Amino acid sequence: MDRVVLYRAPSTEARVDEIADWLEQCLQSSVDASVVVRDRFLDVHRTDELAERFAEARVRSPSDRETGNTMLGTVRYEERVLESPDRGGGVLYDGLQVQRALNEAITPEERGLEALHVAVLDRAIGTWGDHDGRWHKRVNVLGQPALVSVPGLYEAPAKPERYYKEKQRHALLSGDSPPREVLENRVEGEFLIEDDPRTTDALRGYVLQPVDYLLRGTPFCDDRRCRLFNAHRHEGVIEAQLREPAFCPDHAALYGRN
Ligand SMILES: [Zn+2]
Repeated sequence: MDRVVLYRAPSTEARVDEIADWLEQCLQSSVDASVVVRDRFLDVHRTDELAERFAEARVRSPSDRETGNTMLGTVRYEERVLESPDRGGGVLYDGLQVQRALNEAITPEERGLEALHVAVLDRAIGTWGDHDGRWHKRVNVLGQPALVSVPGLYEAPAKPERYYKEKQRHALLSGDSPPREVLENRVEGEFLIEDDPRTTDALRGYVLQPVDYLLRGTPFCDDRRCRLFNAHRHEGVIEAQLREPAFCPDHAALYGRN
């Protein structure tokens, strides 16, 4: 690998150019690779098939392994969301199917592993859990291209239990989601919610993970303090991504201390 290509997600809080600067610093001492930033993946690599591929990758229900709804109305909806990303939301996609579709959308000359593409997306993605027979939302999917889901940062890791109770209580009373202040005041423990100002910082490790995986072949790190740790709860995301130290000693030796 001699290049990492990051793609912006303009409809989200994620400032990908800042993440790219940070990644470049991480790689400069141990890896001879440059980092470049491009606009939204789905614009740069738009193909005629993409809308249909997204329609095929739609998760139908949390416990249904089968995906896809390619009825004309759904494909049209996907076309509109490709055109204007602000109109999307609320749909979960099979991350591996999306990854295959995006891989095929990259031109053959660019698809090789000399350049790792990391598509930061405004879509929620999941993978099927064979062990429990349901879909699990993910922050990232490693591979070519790697997918990093901004909604996944908010939705995939489990929040404190009290959060779900407050949400339910509020929905019963008023029929909608409680505002951020209500949740933050009434729920103990830390978590990130939609458009959190810490989004960019918290995503850094999720962008480095697929790079580290391609370089070293081992996914994630076992040390809870390390940005390469795969946290399953929000408290874990905050500990790994937002608190010192940035990395465990082994990964700090490779990527520095920033
Ligand atoms: Zn580590």
